[in-house]
Amino acid sequence: MGEPTTDLLIAGRTVPGEGAPIDVENPTTERVAATVPSASPAQVDQAVTAAGEAFEEWSRMPAIDRAPLLRQVADALRDHTEELALLMTTEIGRPLTESRDEVEWCASCLEFYAEVARSEIGRVIPPIESSQFAVVVKEPHGVVGCIVPWNYPLLLLFWKLAPALAAGNTVVAKPSELTPLSTLALAPVFDCLPDGVVNLVPGDGAVGAQIAEHEGVECVAFTGSVATGQKVGVACAARNARANLEMGGKDAFIVCSDMADEAIEVAARGGAWAAFLNAGQVCTSSERFFVVEDVYDAYVEAFVDHTKSLVVGDPMDEKTDIGPMVSANQRGKAASQVEAAVGVGARILAGGDAGGRETGHYLEPTVVVDVPGDAALMTEETFGPVAPIVPVPSLDEAIERANSLRYGLGAIIYTRDLANAVKCLKEVRAGSVWINDPLTDNDAGPFGGFKNSGIGRELGAEGLDAFREAKHVHIETEIEVKDWWFPYG
Ligand code: NAD
Repeated sequence: MGEPTTDLLIAGRTVPGEGAPIDVENPTTERVAATVPSASPAQVDQAVTAAGEAFEEWSRMPAIDRAPLLRQVADALRDHTEELALLMTTEIGRPLTESRDEVEWCASCLEFYAEVARSEIGRVIPPIESSQFAVVVKEPHGVVGCIVPWNYPLLLLFWKLAPALAAGNTVVAKPSELTPLSTLALAPVFDCLPDGVVNLVPGDGAVGAQIAEHEGVECVAFTGSVATGQKVGVACAARNARANLEMGGKDAFIVCSDMADEAIEVAARGGAWAAFLNAGQVCTSSERFFVVEDVYDAYVEAFVDHTKSLVVGDPMDEKTDIGPMVSANQRGKAASQVEAAVGVGARILAGGDAGGRETGHYLEPTVVVDVPGDAALMTEETFGPVAPIVPVPSLDEAIERANSLRYGLGAIIYTRDLANAVKCLKEVRAGSVWINDPLTDNDAGPFGGFKNSGIGRELGAEGLDAFREAKHVHIETEIEVKDWWFPYG
């Protein structure tokens, strides 16, 4: 891999940033991988202006003509898979296989919306009188600001960018300050689009805040923490801009009593994957395991055995299952939740430390039991490779505890009993409910959260509508004075 590009993309040209420099750390080596100059406030303005100017042509282009361009972007992404995957693994520390998968998911999302957006731009509705014709027209907002976190830097960008562009919007995108390299490397991927349709501006929260507050940005699509999402929501509300907010979670993983015998092994391996994928840094990571008492001991035993077999190590090594966490800060937060839980009686059955490594932000996949319900490990987002497993007397109590927090992003249920499955899908308050197949996303299915976990949805038809304004058009074909007008007397 050569030197990564650190240039911004504004109005179709790559330019050096003029703002404060950001050191991007490789979390495996703890060395600086590259220094990226942020976009200055003037450059953010230029990016918004460029996107505003590009909107005129892009929004008028029929969706059938936008579609092949979006498919070209998808092809270009695939051509850059290895480079983008290496950059993501360098800046996040996640195994290369997972980074390669992420590029493919981005391409797939582009192809999905390229087609979906050309299938309809509204609907015909019944008029009030037979001489009339009425339609709903779905129009793009204008310039969309995309503000994304570091854990899936490209996927969470394309979940916004693909539907936004397909609907005719133009984009100003800001990656996380921890992961700008893979995003800036996208510039050539967008070569086939008219200048200014996509603009890339790295920077920290100040750049994000400028985008959220910018009068030229009609809609902000945000993914990140609840605290930042609330700030973005407030900034948008202050100027009545549209906001789509995808925020944190504390997902529950429920194992029903019918999962005895050989099925418990599957639920244990599914649980370890849901808790430890990307070192537990997935917004829908399972962070609270509620296991019905009859199968609790067998579940914990299978979970611990499997966890101890996982390969923790260099994420560039193809055999590695779990790499380091993204930063010392994130590792410290997760480790301190575990430590605090142990302080109030919890026991660690696997992991709990760096496994003897002195370099890299490693936290071994950690299984914890006997965690009090009010410990931060059970109530606040951990965002690390930690699985607290708790016995519950019944499925009813598992659902009650799953629903007891202000989060509602996802939930996973393992059951072979149809009645249990239907009960859970009806009663669990979360935006995604996965039954017997953890964390599988689908471009066609909406993704987002209940309660604090989000406002709005990405993916699916809902994810396209997030980037469209509805216009009601009412046409009267007979030009006549209506008998309900003035005068009344
Ligand atoms: P974060 O909230 O710290 O940052 C997210 C983005 O917001 C970054 O680009 C950051 O620079 C920017 N930002 C910071 N302050 C801002 C401000 N005042 N105005 C505008 N933008 C600002 O989140 P993070 O640590 O990068 O990501 C982890 C969080 O993201 C976790 O809470 C996780 O649950 C959440 N997440 C949610 C989803 C989802 O789909 N719901 C997906 C992935 C991650």
